[in-house]
This record gives sequence, structure tokens and C-alpha cells, in this order.
Amino acid sequence: MKERFLRFMQGRYGVDEFSRFLIWMVIAFWLLAIVIRMGGSGSHTAAAVGTICDYISFAAIIYSWFRMFSKNIIKRQNENRMYLKYKQKISGIFKSESKDKSHKIYKCPKCGQKIRVPKNKGKIAISCPNCSTEFVKRT
Ligand SMILES: [Zn+2]
Repeated sequence: MKERFLRFMQGRYGVDEFSRFLIWMVIAFWLLAIVIRMGGSGSHTAAAVGTICDYISFAAIIYSWFRMFSKNIIKRQNENRMYLKYKQKISGIFKSESKDKSHKIYKCPKCGQKIRVPKNKGKIAISCPNCSTEFVKRT
């Protein structure tokens, strides 16, 4: 049985970060559908929204399965790369510069270029990557 499965999976894409995200989406929308139905029991809107959540979660299951068993590995890798790019962008929005506790942002005194410097390093000479001006700061 295991051997059969391994033979079946040969040359197929398998699970990646994007698939894992899809599986989380399945769980999230499945729970959301339950909560909405419980919250608005009897209401037509709640029932409709619950059904939409069901469809989304079902579509995510199908899509994640399709990706796992897909033989078009290059296409799947591209999807995963795109997902990781978006994820990075979105987490960049939530993680603003000021929240970064291990780094400090300095402005170049000459051109105003922002430079990210690791904290707690004592007095260090920072050179601007834009105009190569050097200035000393305590971090
Ligand atoms: Zn500069």
C-alpha cells in the first residue's frame, strides 16, 4: 500500500508553503462558516455567507489537492514563489520599521537616505550606501 502510494506520488509536486497556506484557509473558512451560522441562526444573510465560506473552503481543498498531485512542477513552483512574494509584502506592511527592535533606522546627514543599523553595537561608523558619506552613531 505504501509502495503504491510512493509510486503514485513519483514525479508529482507534493506539499509546499502555498499548499500549507491553502490548508489553513480551508480550516479558517470552515470555522468561519460554523461561527456565522451559529451567530445568525435563522437569518438568510448568515446562511448565505456561511454557504459562501463553505464554497471557498471546498475550493481551497480541491486546489491544494490539485497542486499536491500535479505533475507540472515548474508551474507549481512559480505559484509558490508568487505566494511567498505576496506574503513577504503583506508581512512587511504589518511589521513597520519602528517595531523592529533589533535594528534602528538612521538618516544619512547628507542625502537623507534611510539606513537600517543593528542595535546595541556601541559607537559605530555607518557609511551611506547611496552617497558613501560616513558618520558615527551610538546604537
Ligand atoms: Zn547619503
